Amino acid sequence: MLKYSTICILGGLLYIFLLIYDGCNRSSPILNVPGIVLTFDDSSIDEWFNILPLLESFSMKATFFLTDIASIGNEEIKKLRIIQESGHEIASHGYTHIDPILYIKENGVLEYIKGEILPAKDFLTMNGFHQESFAFVHGIRNKKIDKELISIFPNIRGVSETQRHKRIQRIQNVKDIYFDQGCQQIIRGFCIDVIQEVNIEQIKYILKKTKRENKIIVFYAHTPKENTSKGKWEVKIDFLKEVFKIVNEMEIKSFRFRDINHV
Ligand SMILES: [Zn+2]
Repeated sequence: MLKYSTICILGGLLYIFLLIYDGCNRSSPILNVPGIVLTFDDSSIDEWFNILPLLESFSMKATFFLTDIASIGNEEIKKLRIIQESGHEIASHGYTHIDPILYIKENGVLEYIKGEILPAKDFLTMNGFHQESFAFVHGIRNKKIDKELISIFPNIRGVSETQRHKRIQRIQNVKDIYFDQGCQQIIRGFCIDVIQEVNIEQIKYILKKTKRENKIIVFYAHTPKENTSKGKWEVKIDFLKEVFKIVNEMEIKSFRFRDINHV
């Protein structure tokens, strides 16, 4: 029979262990401050390069998920290097931007990894872009794909299911975008392109909740432009400015995608 004091000590040790060990195998600590991760997808390298001074002036970090790898020449590589040297992240979004589910139906998951994922990762690594993050094409994924991708990239971005499946009626209904800084292998992003018709009041709501609840919010967009067209995967530069202003006013810290997780 164990003594009462022994049980108390063991119980105490177990409690401390559970406090420290939360099931994650992290290589970096939880940030424990409210944060924003701004991400851009696809291959608008010129437009991304052009917003570097804007990002700098608001102390914003960005992560660029790159695809269409075959079209990247030396000029693009030079620009991407400057982007990385300015403190941003160049990450992977696949080699050709194919729909993984359709591709896998025809070719299987291993062919998808071999033909779409690894060549993009290898190309970017070879050119000096350390690969830790990946974003799913249109957030399309399933468990089989998740399992393979998780073994390759420590940080993966999906998209908000609520936002993807229906036009937002009430921003309060979009609940799957707040990363609680716990163990989470796939973090969902919220699209701020004009196609989603997101307004600045909705952004304020999201940022207030992020701040109040000590969360991290991940926004994603595609091509930043001075003048956008309705229904396009583009984000107006003036809109970005407004968002950055609010982020700074609320003292929400900006991070690269690779900084926030490491499951
Ligand atoms: Zn994309």
